[in-house]
Amino acid sequence: MALTTIDMSEFTKEQLFSLIDGAKRMLYSEATVVGGELICAKCKLPGTPALLEEGMTVTHNLIKLSGTRMEAKGWDGRSSAVSEEGERLLLECPNCFQRHSIPDSLALEWL
Ligand SMILES: [Zn+2]
Repeated sequence: MALTTIDMSEFTKEQLFSLIDGAKRMLYSEATVVGGELICAKCKLPGTPALLEEGMTVTHNLIKLSGTRMEAKGWDGRSSAVSEEGERLLLECPNCFQRHSIPDSLALEWL
């Protein structure tokens, strides 16, 4: 299927959103966290990832990472300034900058 032949105006807003969600799942594999480090899906190297917010140029301050929990501080230190929606947050590999989505099993707590 060639993407260029798709007329995006044919889609409803809801269809477009689900399309974007599907594309994101394809683009970003889910993060695997072992021993407080991200195991990169691309380069397979462990490392402490950066916590990014999609569409923003800010990087949040990732304080602590474990297999089930993540503690972070928002970029300006106010938790109200950051999106609470985990789907917009990504973990970036420090080695090759591959981005990963945050699995549901990983709870994020804003400090
Ligand atoms: Zn990597």
